[in-house]
Amino acid sequence: MIEDGPTQPGDPRAHLSSPATRSTLRIQNQLLAAAREYLTSAGFTEMLPPVIGPVTDPGGRGSKQVDIDFYGHRYKLMTSAILYKQASLLAFDKIFCIAPNVRLEPLETANTSRHLAEFHQLDVEVAGASREQIIQLVEDLVVHMVQRTIAALPEEFAALGRDVDAFADLVQGMFARTTHAEAVADLHAVGHDQSADAEIDWAGEALLSSKSSRPFFVTDYPKGSRGFYDRESRTEAGVLRNFDLIAPEGFGELCSGSERTNDYAEIITRMRETGENPQKYRWYLELVKEGIPASAGFGIGVERLTRYVAGLDAVWQANAFPKLPGVVSP
Ligand code: AMP
Ligand code: MG
Repeated sequence: MIEDGPTQPGDPRAHLSSPATRSTLRIQNQLLAAAREYLTSAGFTEMLPPVIGPVTDPGGRGSKQVDIDFYGHRYKLMTSAILYKQASLLAFDKIFCIAPNVRLEPLETANTSRHLAEFHQLDVEVAGASREQIIQLVEDLVVHMVQRTIAALPEEFAALGRDVDAFADLVQGMFARTTHAEAVADLHAVGHDQSADAEIDWAGEALLSSKSSRPFFVTDYPKGSRGFYDRESRTEAGVLRNFDLIAPEGFGELCSGSERTNDYAEIITRMRETGENPQKYRWYLELVKEGIPASAGFGIGVERLTRYVAGLDAVWQANAFPKLPGVVSP
């Protein structure tokens, strides 16, 4: 797709000075400006995310966390801001942050076009929100971000050869919805062997994404597939009140979100079920014990969204200093 772009992520001069990278970074800048505009005018407060802490998000499909020595204590680089997002609701009811995440993804993900070892999330959390309300917010926010960006930067889309007609459904808010169980049945129908009790695998996600012409939400993932903080349905045991947003055209997952577990006993049980040691989460559990708001929220992968909007071959092209799993780079 990008003819004048570099073919290697490890050459910062070629990458940063390439016209394709400049167009991509302008699109990314506009997407983020539009997100700030939308969220701030809807009453959200932007907070600066922590980069290190005693513990971080345990979720993450086989990726490893990075330890740092904090004055003799073992701290982690954030793999996601989830615990801090929930805690931040003690200050404000509606918050967002644009947070860097470091995940040492398995080496085999270096070629998926979708994985970086360092990336950013646009993280949002809302006290008292339901999953349905938060899905609506994702939809409205993404529509606003994409509408603003294609209106502001037609020349950058033209330079990248990205036909903005690809967003005809999106800008009208025509997102589709499916449950995890329905997505599994769709995959079985095309001969893809997808477990009904697990996260949709990379190949399955690519299949579903490729055959869709519009973005779609997958809801109701099974319990074993996600972290302790995605709340379990009170009416359907084993089903989580969560969702992913998947882009069309094969670009895959853009966002994950959920209603959160905020009940102390429930969190301890879920931690044990997911193989987490509650001892590690002391600061978080102390807050939860005294009470944190019920909430729902989500994280949009900034480079993933940029890749989709700009129509790039690979997610690393949407980062100024890309770090692919296992590739030594600045
Ligand atoms: P997760 O907590 O794994 O659902 O991640 C939240 C969002 O961040 C995903 O929906 C993706 O958009 C993005 N994301 C997750 N892992 C990566 C990665 N390794 N590289 C780039 N983006 C990622
Ligand atoms: Mg996810």
